[in-house]
Amino acid sequence: MNAAVPPFLEAASPHTMNTYARVPIALSHGHGCRVWDINGKPYLDALGGIAVNTLGHNHPRLVPALQDQISKIIHSSNYYHVPNQEKLAAKLVELSGLTNVFFCSTGLEANEAALKLARKFGHDKGIERPEIVVYEHAFHGRSIATLSATGNEKVQKGFGPLVEGFIRVPLNDIEALKAATAGNPNVVAVFFETIQGEGGINPMRIEYLQQVRQLCDERDWLLMIDEVQCGMGRTGKWFAHQWAGIKPDVMPLAKGLGSGVPIGAVVAGPKAANIFQPGNHGTTFGGNPLAMRAGVETIRIMEEDGLLQNAVKVGAHLRAALTRELAAELKDPAGVKEIRGMGLMLGIELARPCGELVKRCADKGLLISVTADSVIRLVPPLIMTPAEADEVVAILCPLIKQLLAETP
Ligand SMILES: *Cc1c(COP(=O)(O)O)cnc(C)c1O
Repeated sequence: MNAAVPPFLEAASPHTMNTYARVPIALSHGHGCRVWDINGKPYLDALGGIAVNTLGHNHPRLVPALQDQISKIIHSSNYYHVPNQEKLAAKLVELSGLTNVFFCSTGLEANEAALKLARKFGHDKGIERPEIVVYEHAFHGRSIATLSATGNEKVQKGFGPLVEGFIRVPLNDIEALKAATAGNPNVVAVFFETIQGEGGINPMRIEYLQQVRQLCDERDWLLMIDEVQCGMGRTGKWFAHQWAGIKPDVMPLAKGLGSGVPIGAVVAGPKAANIFQPGNHGTTFGGNPLAMRAGVETIRIMEEDGLLQNAVKVGAHLRAALTRELAAELKDPAGVKEIRGMGLMLGIELARPCGELVKRCADKGLLISVTADSVIRLVPPLIMTPAEADEVVAILCPLIKQLLAETP
C-alpha cells in the first residue's frame, strides 16, 4: 500500500457502522475476472462479489443494456406493471419447471418470503403453529426470521429471542429428519441450501435430495430450496438441485441473478404459487425495471455464451489443478482435509483456521474468501477461463502450503 491510501482503509471507518472486518482495499473498476484497486493494483477475482458477479465486471453486453435501461426508467413501483417482471418470471419458470415468481431485492428477503409462504401454507390447512425443518450450518440471511433459520450461533448471538417454529436437523441424514418430525402434525416445510455456502461448501447428496422430495410428497410438506448462492448456473445446472432430477415447491434466488444489480426472487411450483393473495406480501424495490433488466440480460448472455458449460469445464479444470498441486497436503491429516463443491462453487477445507489467507491472497493479487473459519471458498464469475483458473491455483496453493508450514 502506498501513500495514496485514504485513512479509512487503515482504521475503522469513522462514519459507516462497524459491521465488516474489511480487507484494506478499495476496488475502483474491473474488466472480466480482473479488478483494480484505487491505487491501480490488479487482482484476479475468484470471489465474484460473493457469487454475485456472474458475468464478471464491465461486461461488454450487460453494461450497454443497463445504460439503456437507466436512461429509460429505473424504478416505477409495483403499483404498475413492469413488463420485464413478466419476461424474467417466464424465463425462471422455463428454467426451473416451476410456475410463478415473486421478485424482491436480496437473498434474505427471498428467504423471508419463503418462510411466510410456508407458514401461510400451514395456516390455510388449519395448522395454527406451523414448524419448518432447517439444517445445521445453514445460512439463510440476517433478518430476525432468517437468522433464526440459520444454523450458526455467531449469526444469532445477541439477537434473541429467536423466531420460534424451527426444527433443526443434520445434513444428509434421512433417518434423523424422520425422527425429528415423527408424529408432529405442525410440520409444514423442509428448508435447505442444495450446497451450503457460508456454512463451508457442504453439498446435500443426490440420494438425500430425492429422499426428502419423496418425504415431502408423502407428508404434504413444502420442499423449499435456498438456491441464493448455489443457483444461477454456478454448479453447471441452472439450479443445483436439478442434478438430483427433483423440483422444489419453493426456491429463493438472489446473488448471481442480476450480475451485481440487487435482485431476489422466490420461484414457486403449483403447491405454493397461489398461497399469497393481494395484501399478503410486497416490497417497494422488488422487481423494479433496472433489476429486471439486469436479470433478463444476465440469463440471455449466460445462454448465448454457454456459461453453464463453462462452469462445468472450468470448475473441473480448477478442481483437478488444485487436487494435483495439493496432493501431498491432501494426504496429511494436518493439511488439506477435502476439496469439495461443484462447478465454480468450490471449497478447500484445511485442518486449521485460515482466515489470514484472505489478506495474503489479496497481497499477491487474488480475491477469495474464507468461510466457516477453515474453508477457502472459490466462487468466481462464470466467465472464468482455464488460464485464469491456473492463475488462481498458482497464487493460492503456495500460500496454503506456506500457512500449513507455520506453527498454528
Ligand atoms: C447470501 C445468502 C443469503 C442472504 O442473502 P443477502 O442478499 O445477503 O440477504 C441467503 N441464503 C444463502 C444461501 C446465501 O448464500
